[in-house]
Amino acid sequence: AMSGTKILCSTSPTPKFMMPRQQRTLASIAATAISTGEQDSAVLHRSLKTPPMLVVSARERHLTFSDGHEILDSTCGAAVACLGSHNERVKKAMIEQIDKFSYCNSMFFGHPIGEQLCAELIQGTEGAMAKAYIMCSGSEAMDSAMKMARQYFTEISPQENKRINFIAREGSYHGTTIGGLSMSGHVARRSLFLDMLLPNVHRVSACNAYRGMKKGQTTEQYVAQLADELDRKFQEIGPETVCAFVAEPVVGAALGCVPSVEGYFKAMKGVCDKYGALLILDEVMSGMGRSGTLHAWQQEGVVPDIQTLAKGLGGGYAPIAAMLINHRVADALKNGTGAFSHGHTYQGHPVSCAAALEVQRVIREDDLLTNVKKRGELLSSLLHKHLDGHPYVGNIRGRGLFWGIEFVADKQTKDPFPPSFGVANLVHTIGLKGQGISLYPGTGTLDGVKGDHVLLAPAYTSTAEEIEEISLKTKLTIDQAFEKLQ
Ligand code: PLP
Repeated sequence: AMSGTKILCSTSPTPKFMMPRQQRTLASIAATAISTGEQDSAVLHRSLKTPPMLVVSARERHLTFSDGHEILDSTCGAAVACLGSHNERVKKAMIEQIDKFSYCNSMFFGHPIGEQLCAELIQGTEGAMAKAYIMCSGSEAMDSAMKMARQYFTEISPQENKRINFIAREGSYHGTTIGGLSMSGHVARRSLFLDMLLPNVHRVSACNAYRGMKKGQTTEQYVAQLADELDRKFQEIGPETVCAFVAEPVVGAALGCVPSVEGYFKAMKGVCDKYGALLILDEVMSGMGRSGTLHAWQQEGVVPDIQTLAKGLGGGYAPIAAMLINHRVADALKNGTGAFSHGHTYQGHPVSCAAALEVQRVIREDDLLTNVKKRGELLSSLLHKHLDGHPYVGNIRGRGLFWGIEFVADKQTKDPFPPSFGVANLVHTIGLKGQGISLYPGTGTLDGVKGDHVLLAPAYTSTAEEIEEISLKTKLTIDQAFEKLQ
């Protein structure tokens, strides 16, 4: 504990005895899987039919597989490894924390590294947010945000007890847990579980200039249309029953890096304010510098009541996510029950906090946001140069170092390719195995129409040469994929 008081930790589990024979069997299964990369893997991989390539090492922004093949990781995994691998400062900070202590129960205790990380995060919001809560994954953070919004209303007045509804958007992804998936508008990821998702999540349209704006419509008219739709949704559900409106400032996996149009979030916040509901922004993917500012909302002229963070927070050095709450929410809890009714065994994990704190210090002290902006502009201009004229590239959009390319069968009608073509997955495979880059594939679904896109999210430390390599190889990959489909 912080005071230096020593306690005997009586709840740590006793190691279970394992039969030597069983141990041998498991070891040999693992050895077989590693050597062949094929049958008998004990890992429940995403595909039980096609085992994935095995990553065995990394250098900076490159990954090496067990067969010696190397790729430039142009997506930082799932927009995570923003500093690449082997950052010496982060490694050292994690080891220093392990040398002090590796775990404590952060539901009962605080610790200095957690205090420092949360202070750093709050400072990064220039005082707009008041408190940070640390967990392990983006899905957990989104579930926490839901519960926090609900608790906020139970704290402020008994009359607000009716607020149990959430309004989220189509073409969104907020996580894989029941709460996160309930808020997600990602049809493919939801479809198998529809009957068990939460009934109190309602949906409005995404803000997607490419797909949503009518011909001749101005940005102002489009924003007014979406604000009106949100207003009507409040009216339909009953405004006094709505907890929060939930959105990603830049839509990640569901649509492929789609930023909102100018004025959109101000208008949406206006509707929330009109009915006293909260604004929850999911910055799990677009936050911590990915979009060119530390927080994506800093480009929108709004401050959320609750926001979530994850991927770029710890840069993949440790699993970590955060929920930040503003003063309105923090004060309600402080003046009410005084405690967030929630908790995780691994919340505020000290080694994850040490990793994230150092990642954030590196971003700040090395002025990496400037690099994100500069390299982002280069990536944008090169993608447009190489691909604007491509017959099957319908749209290129993004912010900072977060870019998406959407494929269409017909540029005039914007008709997508039939799902059976598997365009995005084909581009992904050719990029990986042929060109040696990673392109994160996705099939967004809007208005029941399936569309293909790939997403690019290079490291904040990327050099200009690497961005040139990524852009050119992206073009070559897309050319090759469509040659195959001809
Ligand atoms: N929210 C967004 C915007 C995401 O992109 C993701 C993951 O891709 C999540 C939530 C869920 O995060 P996790 O996969 O860490 O649970």
